[in-house]
Amino acid sequence: MHNSILVTGANGQLGTVLTAVLQDKYGQENVVASDLRPAPSFVGRFETLDVTDVDRLTTVIRQHNITEVYHLAAILSANGEKNPLGSWDLNMKTWLNVLEVARQEKVNKVFYPSSIAVFGASAAKANTPNNSFLDPLTAYGISKAAGENWANYYFQKYGLDVRSLRYPGIIGHQSNPGGGTTDYAVDIFHYAVKKEPFTCFLKENTALPMIFMDDAVRATVELMDAPKENIRIRTSYNIAGTSFTPAEVTSAIQNIYPDFKVTYSPDSRQEIADNWPDSISDAEARKDWAWKPVYLLQKMTETMLEKLKEKYISQAV
Ligand code: NAD
Repeated sequence: MHNSILVTGANGQLGTVLTAVLQDKYGQENVVASDLRPAPSFVGRFETLDVTDVDRLTTVIRQHNITEVYHLAAILSANGEKNPLGSWDLNMKTWLNVLEVARQEKVNKVFYPSSIAVFGASAAKANTPNNSFLDPLTAYGISKAAGENWANYYFQKYGLDVRSLRYPGIIGHQSNPGGGTTDYAVDIFHYAVKKEPFTCFLKENTALPMIFMDDAVRATVELMDAPKENIRIRTSYNIAGTSFTPAEVTSAIQNIYPDFKVTYSPDSRQEIADNWPDSISDAEARKDWAWKPVYLLQKMTETMLEKLKEKYISQAV
């Protein structure tokens, strides 16, 4: 049987890029993108789908004979703190709907994006191991930690093949970030290319785990392609790309744009960042399904600046 894929939250920062990669891999006709509303420039099959609506989710999965679901819809860390109970409700309800409908409709595989936000004060700050104790301090982190446990539950109890990654902050040139604590690390490149000064909402020495979009998407595809027996961790795998502070990325940008200026004005997102690891260990992912990141800070910086420059030039003509 051929794969028929559903992506929820497909208009988001990650969904935009992952959907295009899945279309290339499986054929445009075999990928159904979905979100709360259509994206004007999207090319391919699309369904308007609010994942809190379990009946509509069931209809879409039946209608397209869906065999794999990538459940990206969520409210992210910084936005979640504006309405903690609302973000918990949305993140949990949508995820439990996906798991339950996937079980009932005998979907083959399900992907769940977790986050470094699952870690809190009990986890080591540097090179945080996969099996750290999880005591997250954001509603978003609590929902992702609970979501990982539900992933494991559906695998253990029903044999549903759920696979998950704990993404670091995702940095890409194709799409805009959606209200997370690492958004600065995308925005800073836009300001550099536009030759405008940038005000950073984190302190200059705040190190956080980050990953380049191409690595994040490749990790997702490699995890989902790995033989089932290799996936030993059914909560979620840490994946690392790189790790840097605002000062370090500024200096990498200044190697190419020497006049680029950054000032620091930390806001409530600083407290979230202070509770997250500086870097995480992806040893388990490397061991089980041969994960290896390609982009470190310098290569990522060069690629971001080059691609964004092309984008702004093409928009101007
Ligand atoms: P995003 O905020 O850019 O996109 C989320 C999408 O979900 C949006 O297009 C939104 O319209 C949609 N959505 C919200 N509520 C919905 C609902 N009820 N039904 C259907 N769609 C709904 O997020 P992203 O950055 O693309 O992240 C994708 C996933 O990866 C999320 O689960 C996020 O928690 C996780 N993640 C992202 C990062 C990151 O740095 N971007 C890091 C770690 C984990």
